[in-house]
Amino acid sequence: VRRQRALIVGGGLVGLRSAEALRQGGFDGSIDLVCAETELPYDRPPLSKAVLTGEREPTSTVFRGLSSFADLDIRLHRGIPASSLDLTSRTVTVDDDQLPFDDLIIGTGSSPRTLGDLPALEGVHVLRGIDDAATIRGSLLREPRVVVLGAGVLGAEVASSARHLGLEVTILEQQDTPMLRSVGARMGSVLAALHDDHGTRLLCGVSVEAVEGSTRVERIRLSNGETVECDLLVLGIGSRPNTSWLEDSGLTISDGVVCDRSLRAGPEGVYAAGDVARWPNPLVGRMQRCEQWMTGVEQARYVASCILGKPRSAAFLGSNYSWSHQYGAHLQFVGTTYADDFEVVSGSTTDREFVVHYRRAGRLVGAMAMNRPTELMAAKREIEISVGGLDVSLGSQVVSDDLSACF
Ligand SMILES: Cc1cc2nc3c(=O)[nH]c(=O)nc-3n(C[C@H](O)[C@H](O)[C@H](O)COP(=O)(O)OP(=O)(O)OC[C@H]3O[C@@H](n4cnc5c(N)ncnc54)[C@H](O)[C@@H]3O)c2cc1C
Repeated sequence: VRRQRALIVGGGLVGLRSAEALRQGGFDGSIDLVCAETELPYDRPPLSKAVLTGEREPTSTVFRGLSSFADLDIRLHRGIPASSLDLTSRTVTVDDDQLPFDDLIIGTGSSPRTLGDLPALEGVHVLRGIDDAATIRGSLLREPRVVVLGAGVLGAEVASSARHLGLEVTILEQQDTPMLRSVGARMGSVLAALHDDHGTRLLCGVSVEAVEGSTRVERIRLSNGETVECDLLVLGIGSRPNTSWLEDSGLTISDGVVCDRSLRAGPEGVYAAGDVARWPNPLVGRMQRCEQWMTGVEQARYVASCILGKPRSAAFLGSNYSWSHQYGAHLQFVGTTYADDFEVVSGSTTDREFVVHYRRAGRLVGAMAMNRPTELMAAKREIEISVGGLDVSLGSQVVSDDLSACF
């Protein structure tokens, strides 16, 4: 059956890349792209880095000008979110319109988590969108004492950018080291030392008891009895998939849109990709949602190739690649740290130039690098080849969630 109407919900990375891939692959039907935001699709990684330091303007992150959407014959619907999906009539509701589709790509991304009982104080921010970045940048110019909640990648980048501007910065982290669950305690302590050496105060093993102030945030009271004075609080405590509009759709929603190995989310022609998609990832042997730029791009291309009827493989096989820039260090991650062994295979952690390999049953399954991009890319290729050869049926690959053997 010739399919003529592609509808993409979510005008972020996945939305744009999948629309582009459809056109590049010769799709000659209509493409509608529904964007909740009024901005044209833009790139998020610079928001926590060059935009906060002032090296780039927020609007410079926009991927393409308006005219190039017309050139690609992509119909943009901006500023109004999709509110529901009806799988029987195969339509999506946007405002008063019912947009019909033959193929649907759900790419609605995720939104930052906040603290449950956070009082409404000025100076408390999350960072997801271009507006958030512009607001935080404006606040940073007033030279505040900055507190960042969460020492994950986003929190670390905000702290690094604020230190770049010479500001007083404290990071509060519940775990004993930064990124404990992602990289383990030993590599976490390498990241902790990076903060330390650049003048960021990192408090680990603490949680927030209260955020206080009269109209603006003034102080954070911690579980260890300590109080940290601050003028700006940025939350970097993870995010939730944007699925509320799909609640009554009949799709399976459980920490994301649950997909099969081909990123199919329901009936034929319904897919999800990017931060919002949860799929059986053969790399880790379980259902996973990846909030990574490259995974979003790879999934967007894969889904487009399925719609075009020419997927390269029956299952989506990605390499879970991501990067981060912190205090001038270039960090890269690939694969998984669900491993039973790890080793620094090149360079040294004290020199801040190294590559770590993570192995499971002797096979390379993941790598982390600091300032060693070429070697990391070699590991990425090896992992991609190995993933390509895996049996993707989940049951055969379930691995223990207990990482203690590794770290
Ligand atoms: C500040 C920041 C820095 C980052 N840095 C890095 C990095 O260095 N390296 C890395 O690998 N990854 C990084 N990431 C992650 C990466 O940017 C994301 O994984 C990627 O943007 C995911 O793309 P997406 O299209 O799934 O979601 P998004 O880019 O979030 O796009 C989803 C879009 O859907 C819209 N939407 C939501 N609900 C609806 C609805 N109902 N109807 C219509 N539209 C809707 C949203 O408004 C949004 O515009 C960073 C993320 C952030 C926020």
